[in-house]
This record gives sequence, structure tokens and C-alpha cells, in this order.
Amino acid sequence: MGSNLPLESRVARLTVASLRNLCEAQKVPGASSLLKEELITFCMKNIDRKELEGFCSAQEDIYFVENMAKAIKWAASSKIVRLDPKSDYTLVNGVFTLRRSDGYEEYNIRFVNQTTDDIATSCECVDFREKGYFCGHQMSVLIRCFSLGLFSLDQWTGPMTPEGEDLVLAGVFRKRRR
Ligand SMILES: [Zn+2]
Repeated sequence: MGSNLPLESRVARLTVASLRNLCEAQKVPGASSLLKEELITFCMKNIDRKELEGFCSAQEDIYFVENMAKAIKWAASSKIVRLDPKSDYTLVNGVFTLRRSDGYEEYNIRFVNQTTDDIATSCECVDFREKGYFCGHQMSVLIRCFSLGLFSLDQWTGPMTPEGEDLVLAGVFRKRRR
């Protein structure tokens, strides 16, 4: 997942703390005083491409699993995740609303499936718009689609990881079978 993005974009969406940790682990000195933009260039220049790719993949897997776990909880609430009832396998429109102490977050989510093996997904949040992540909001809509039977895990060709699949199987489908 995420490997279709250019490596620099994948590095750019990591936190400053994790980039500094990477430099430390790679024993590349001089990273501690750099700001985010400089740090990205520094890592691209001083760290082996394979190492960078491996690090990005590991961080992306963590992001995916953490958000999938949250999404499974969110998707169980009809206050948090609402689907347009006209949604089907070819077009899903969802709204994610989460109350916070200082107001609430609301995002529109859309999945468009034009060719049956190529699903385009989007969300209005920063994680998707600026970082290209398949965010927790999209995941929660995906989980709702699964639990409504709009499509199955096998039919889903959008972002997924083996660990994410395990969470979905344990958290969504096992419940339905009972
Ligand atoms: Zn989002």
C-alpha cells in the first residue's frame, strides 16, 4: 500500500520525530537540528533508497492497522458513519462525523468503482488530501459497506494490508456470522 506514490511524497508524510529516529538508526549524523523540509531532503540524499522504502512501508502498515482498529469501532455507530442509501458497489457516498470536546469533525467520503478492479477513493480530510493516506474515515465507510453487504472483502480492490484484513475478518465478519 502507498507504493504507487513517489518515494519523496511517502517520506514527506512521515513525522519529524520518525524521520529523526530513522537517521539515528541509520547512523547518519546532522539531522537533529533540521526542520521538516530540510529533513526530507536530507533523508533522500543520505539514506539508501531501499532503507527509506522499507521504513516508509513499515510506518504505512502501522498507520493502516491503527486506523483500521479505530474505524471498526466508528463504523458500528450510525451517528459517526452515515451512508447515502443509494450507495452500491459502483458508487459509495458516506459522511463521517465525530464529536470532539472543541467541536466536531465532518468529512465526505466517496468510493468510485468504474472498472470493477479499480476503485478510486477520497476523503476531505488532511490525511487524504495532503498526504494521500487511505485514512480512518475512509476505512470506517469501507467497514460499513462490508457489514451492509454492499461488497465483500474479496471484491474490494482498494487499499488493504494483510494485518488490516485480519482485523476486518475478526471485527466485522465474525460478528455477522454469530
Ligand atoms: Zn479522512
